[in-house]
Amino acid sequence: MLENHLQSYDISCTSPSLNPFVRKWREQNRGVLGYLCNVPKEIIYAAGLLPFRLLGDTKPLKEAYAHFPSVFCHYSRSLVDLGIQGDFQHLDGIISINMCDTIVHLANAMQTSLDVPCFYFINRPHDNGVPAAHAFFRQEINKFKQFLETHTGKSITDLSLARSIRAYNQNRSLLKELYALRGEGDTPLLPGIAVNTIAYVSQVMPPDDNIQLLSGIIDDVCKQSKPTASKRPRIHISGSMLQDLSLISLVEKCGGIVVSDDLCSGLRLFWEQVNENGDPLDSLTDYYLNKMPCPAMHSKGIEEQRLADIIRLVRHYRADGVVFCLQKYCDTHQFDLPYLESCLKKEGIPVLNLEVDGAINPEQLRTRLQAFIEILS
Ligand code: SF4
Repeated sequence: MLENHLQSYDISCTSPSLNPFVRKWREQNRGVLGYLCNVPKEIIYAAGLLPFRLLGDTKPLKEAYAHFPSVFCHYSRSLVDLGIQGDFQHLDGIISINMCDTIVHLANAMQTSLDVPCFYFINRPHDNGVPAAHAFFRQEINKFKQFLETHTGKSITDLSLARSIRAYNQNRSLLKELYALRGEGDTPLLPGIAVNTIAYVSQVMPPDDNIQLLSGIIDDVCKQSKPTASKRPRIHISGSMLQDLSLISLVEKCGGIVVSDDLCSGLRLFWEQVNENGDPLDSLTDYYLNKMPCPAMHSKGIEEQRLADIIRLVRHYRADGVVFCLQKYCDTHQFDLPYLESCLKKEGIPVLNLEVDGAINPEQLRTRLQAFIEILS
């Protein structure tokens, strides 16, 4: 039963042309919108459309070089490549948001190089500490809502927004529960790779279907007999997008167990909840401005906050060491790295840095991972 549930989280679903939910929604004449990063997907879902996070892939690039500079991260280049090859022909549009500079350039490149019916760009302040940030972003979110209403010809009611927020909140709390089953006890009840794959693929599923699947997995896991306590070193993974999840398996094959992460394609997706009481647009504004930050935010004290978040997660999941997996050319994360690394070491938390660029090369990484895990043993 557990195996059946896990099979629904096949990584191939991250391609819109291979995703069964995209096929089903389109057969029912319901639209699908691809989105990047922290777009408030709840509004898309409330509009009756399927929000589909664009996750790219790890394959070698074919045509992106002609349209997008090679000094951008593989994640962004792979999206241009997939779009040029027609992978987004099943999307009714792409929604982007002001996050790191690469995402802004990516939005421009997609708009000019890809044949997609519509594009929309949401402005998001980079400093949530300035007094005007909330009002400005709320206005942007409201403009986005109005755009979707024009796009679909239907109004988005407060009730449909509240339902959508509730569905995504349930997704978030179930993913958090799954992370707890993996990382809070002495021995993970699920392999690290299974949990990270579920979180990753959850981003391209309708939240209501995902609730059923996640609840089934949690029930199955809770019924399993408990394994004996493990003495293997516990690893926290830090970084931005981790597209090649075989890195998690590699860590575990090298003797560690992955118990947590702060990836933007992992734990940062679900750590907090959107307030379900009060005005839905205010709640979404607060959530997307103040959720666990990535280094694309420039608010005062943001590095200290990021450090505190990592330390808090390391303590919460009792990790023995941190492995940074940063995308090559991701300046946003790379700029933070020296500060985070030196502070974590001062806290007595060992750190290993790995740079990833599309698919990982296990032969290159194995020796470094084995040495690091041996030190932690
Ligand atoms: S934060 Fe880094 S990995 Fe993510 S899109 Fe920007 S440059 Fe790429």
